[in-house]
Amino acid sequence: MADAPLTLRDLAGLDISTIKGVGDKRREALVEVGIESVLDLLTTYPRRYVDRTNEAHVGDLVEGVETLVLVKVRNVRRVPLRTRRSMVTATVGDTTGSISLTFFNQPWRERQLKTDAEIAVFGKPERFRGKLQMVNPVVDIIGDKTGRIVPIYPQSEKANLSTWEIASWVRNALDRAAPRTIGDPLPTRIRERLSLIDRHSALNTIHFPESIVDKERARERLAFDELLRVQLVLVGRKRAFERDNTGIRHDMAGEMQKRFVDALPFPLTAAQRRVVDEVNADLAKPVPMHRLLQGDVGSGKTVVAVAAMLVAVQGGHQGALMAPTEVLAEQHFAGIQRLLADLRVPDDGNLFGERQLRVELLTGRVTGERRRDVLKDLASGGVDIVIGTHALIQDGVEFASLGMVVIDEQHRFGVEQRAALRGKGAGEQHTTPDVLVMTATPIPRTAAMTVYGDLEVSVLDELPPGRTPIATMAVVDSDGSGGSSGEVESMWNDIRAALNVGQQAFVVCPMIEESDKMEVAAAEKIHESLRRGELAKYKVGLLHGRMSSQEKDDVMSKFRARKFDVLVSTTVIEVGVDVPNATCMIVLDADRFGIAQLHQLRGRVGRGSIASRCWLVRQNPHVGMERVDALVKSTDGFYLAEVDLELRGEGTLMSTAQKGASDLKLASLRRDEKLITAAREAAFEIIDADPSLKRNRELASEVNLLLAREEKEFLTKD
Ligand code: ADP
Ligand code: MG
Repeated sequence: MADAPLTLRDLAGLDISTIKGVGDKRREALVEVGIESVLDLLTTYPRRYVDRTNEAHVGDLVEGVETLVLVKVRNVRRVPLRTRRSMVTATVGDTTGSISLTFFNQPWRERQLKTDAEIAVFGKPERFRGKLQMVNPVVDIIGDKTGRIVPIYPQSEKANLSTWEIASWVRNALDRAAPRTIGDPLPTRIRERLSLIDRHSALNTIHFPESIVDKERARERLAFDELLRVQLVLVGRKRAFERDNTGIRHDMAGEMQKRFVDALPFPLTAAQRRVVDEVNADLAKPVPMHRLLQGDVGSGKTVVAVAAMLVAVQGGHQGALMAPTEVLAEQHFAGIQRLLADLRVPDDGNLFGERQLRVELLTGRVTGERRRDVLKDLASGGVDIVIGTHALIQDGVEFASLGMVVIDEQHRFGVEQRAALRGKGAGEQHTTPDVLVMTATPIPRTAAMTVYGDLEVSVLDELPPGRTPIATMAVVDSDGSGGSSGEVESMWNDIRAALNVGQQAFVVCPMIEESDKMEVAAAEKIHESLRRGELAKYKVGLLHGRMSSQEKDDVMSKFRARKFDVLVSTTVIEVGVDVPNATCMIVLDADRFGIAQLHQLRGRVGRGSIASRCWLVRQNPHVGMERVDALVKSTDGFYLAEVDLELRGEGTLMSTAQKGASDLKLASLRRDEKLITAAREAAFEIIDADPSLKRNRELASEVNLLLAREEKEFLTKD
């Protein structure tokens, strides 16, 4: 046994102090940056590599262009300053010339930069007294290493860890692992099919590659492992759910869904037809559906949801749709009632063999007798479809036979709430209802496979025809007064012109994350100043998060009834609210919002047939520019989601805590689409052949080792 290849668990069990050169003090520093075991050390990957043969020369440096140069230190000196600030300058160079580096407030550079040391310097050359210099560049000490490619590790000034120290420890760890080798838990047939290199080579190569191509192959293998572990959890979870739950095998022969679709005043888009088919295929199976429907604002998710619920109703079951707020539940209720106005349900107990389909609303505001009626008829089966809020999952709400659950705007609901609604279906037959979760927040496909990997995903990637795209303009209001610059002035002129012909406008107030109260105060102030100033001649309403839901609804109904021309609002209007006559939107301090949020907000206009416009107002022309530009350029939610992921990184999807614990060190949800797909397929192959991973113990052990408990829950939410 002693000679068996090392497992990740073995490496995790070796304290970092077993490494040569790591004494108490170095150990303390390493622990501070989260490196406690040999495994932690080996998975501290270089953040970049310097290719000695391929870097720029000092002679090539161009003023203003950030460049990496490999140089030797010629001299260093501390320059006394009269202020409290410190200054160290160094002259560095190569065979083509020299350049001076200036460091402010980094007195330790004097000790760090030794004459003749080889260093990599990354920075922007500037001209100073006629010569090029760099101020506070990024410096990596390379030392007198010989390889062509030098790994640069994340360094910590605070913990005083240098890249060459880390490199030497990694070297020591790999050398000592060499006799036993590091084992590979991936089934050989999968590894060969995907042409992945083995893990032992990958770990050696990622740290000390011979070439950049080799390094990329190593990264690929190790990133695949990270992704596979995540997929094993998700796919395992999905298969367990399918095994442990009995669904309803819905009656697909009925006519109701078809009659509903035929009676719509518009044909389904190709995307809607495709998704309805995907849903129907799930419903026909004995396994409960567990599907996420992503579709941009206005892509027509409701029609798909109703079509799905009707399949359940056809077979004598019930459908429930849960929305995150009362306003949205009521809006859905009104809309769905309209869509279903003429539909009839088969009913043996009736002389005519059928009856009118019954849709009811259940929210906190449905009270007294009405509530009792709805509850009674839900329990007896007299209500076919119920639309509601959290009220649907309270005790005392019983269904005769809940067959189809739709959850709208999923990010507002927690895991437990979804499970609670699903639980309502556990009737006498102990069946689990089918679940369709709808979201208007697009997530790039690769990310969806990782974050929602235990759900099937459908995408409505097409808007119904005839929508006029929303024209979006970026406006800079440099002094924040809202009224001075020409751009701002002409924006208000445009708004007034629209109001004068009977259209309506939203003014969205700055989001103030720190405090609800401040946000409301700001909104009140803006409301007041617009009423006196720019919009003095118009009726201006105010909506904010501190109002009771009754007050909010009053304001919304008034706005919808055109009793206000303009609605000044905080972000409470973000989700789903539908006022077709509102054609203009101004977002103040747009740079405070994220891309996804701006996109959701903008979706509040452009709901009718009139061309709509959106102005994104910023105070600082340099802040949030990429985000605002992306919105000006595109109204495609999926494109915007890609940009968002690009700008903000994976953190967008995983909360900070999860990111910290995350095993995804090398894999990128942005760039590794092929690897993600491959990992997912491999996970299915492995789990379907060996559901409890009995014959893949090493893989199972790694999953448990590397995915923190919270993260497993996160990844397998729902
Ligand atoms: P969302 O996906 O944002 O929830 P909705 O379901 O509310 O979108 O649909 C937005 C609007 O588009 C509704 O007024 C709906 O009636 C209409 N709609 C849905 N599907 C189509 C279609 N295929 N053709 C034309 N209009 C459609
Ligand atoms: Mg909707």
